[in-house]
Amino acid sequence: MPEPAPPKREKQSPTDVSFLRPTALGFIRMRGKTDNGRRWYQEIEPELAYILVREGAAVVVNRHTIRRLYSNKEFRQLILTRDNYTCRFCGKYGDTIDHELPRAKGGHTTPVNCVCACYECNQLKANRDVDEFMGMLD
Ligand SMILES: [Zn+2]
Repeated sequence: MPEPAPPKREKQSPTDVSFLRPTALGFIRMRGKTDNGRRWYQEIEPELAYILVREGAAVVVNRHTIRRLYSNKEFRQLILTRDNYTCRFCGKYGDTIDHELPRAKGGHTTPVNCVCACYECNQLKANRDVDEFMGMLD
């Protein structure tokens, strides 16, 4: 039996933020799942939505909505296995997540901004950004 022809429809790229349009109230909707598989939903600033999509933490679902790709637990797993449980700063075993640009300074929890760190480096680095911290190690 021949395959039915795929429906002809313009489809936006899931990573194309230019497709996003804020709602009448000026927000983008974001949805996702908790570690327990419960669905959640929140409204966020468009600027944040663009960053989350560009940095690989979310995809565009439709013009008002993005979907967070990972629960907290999944995100942690993703970063630690990507970095082979190796601290980005000292090269030893690590199993904590560090925000290269700290959240306190506007960094976000995305694959681009997060790396594996050992407990000691993570504590020591605290709210410093990478350049500051690497300077301290020299
Ligand atoms: Zn370390």
